[in-house]
Amino acid sequence: MSEQTQRQVQCPTCEKNVAWIDSNKYRPFCSKRCQLIDFGEWATEKHSIAGEPVFPPEDDQDGGLQ
Ligand SMILES: [Zn+2]
Repeated sequence: MSEQTQRQVQCPTCEKNVAWIDSNKYRPFCSKRCQLIDFGEWATEKHSIAGEPVFPPEDDQDGGLQ
């Protein structure tokens, strides 16, 4: 029995096969870049929900004047 079961996962960002090993500290991502990309998208998404741009109500500065 010399079957080695090396666990592999797919990088969520680029879908490349990544070996799930201890030396890969960016798992399940293949690289730091992919990790940052995924985290950045997640953070941006969350930010857009939390920090929704609010348009100030238009003041009637000269609305009724003619
Ligand atoms: Zn990747």
